[in-house]
Amino acid sequence: MTSREYKKLDGAEKDILDHYLAEYPVKLGQLAKELGVSIKVSSMNTGVSGQIMREGGNYTIRVNRHEARERQRFTIAHELAHYFLHRSVIDSSPDGIRDNVLYRSGEPERIEFEANRLAADIVMPMPLVEKVLQEEFGGVVTEATIESLAARFQVSKAAMEIRLSTFAEA
Ligand SMILES: [Zn+2]
Repeated sequence: MTSREYKKLDGAEKDILDHYLAEYPVKLGQLAKELGVSIKVSSMNTGVSGQIMREGGNYTIRVNRHEARERQRFTIAHELAHYFLHRSVIDSSPDGIRDNVLYRSGEPERIEFEANRLAADIVMPMPLVEKVLQEEFGGVVTEATIESLAARFQVSKAAMEIRLSTFAEA
């Protein structure tokens, strides 16, 4: 199931995004670069996963270097989702949006739910997940399927499990 946040996107930036959603693992670094967003893997306080802020004329995402790579990828997708959806919120504070490990930022929860839904679409594009699931696993979700899909998309098993549970509802 593709999120309503994704469906709201349009214009040149959506075209750029769609280009990257056609192939896994989604190349988040290149996607960000093409959007003009820098990514810095940084030492951040424990409990902070990521941040997106305006620096000069551009946007910068910082991701906590102490977290696991799969986790960093979801965080980058989450911050990119803020970039797509919540630019005015980012711009309204010199620190932008800073997310803790639960992806809470002090902004209204709605903002975080929106960012999480779009982040899932970015890092685990449903049409692609569905295609691999059908073509290689006959549409059958098992523990091994989840593990294999998580490895292919470079996300945590927990994230892929949640993704596939929304697939079952779709
Ligand atoms: Zn957030």
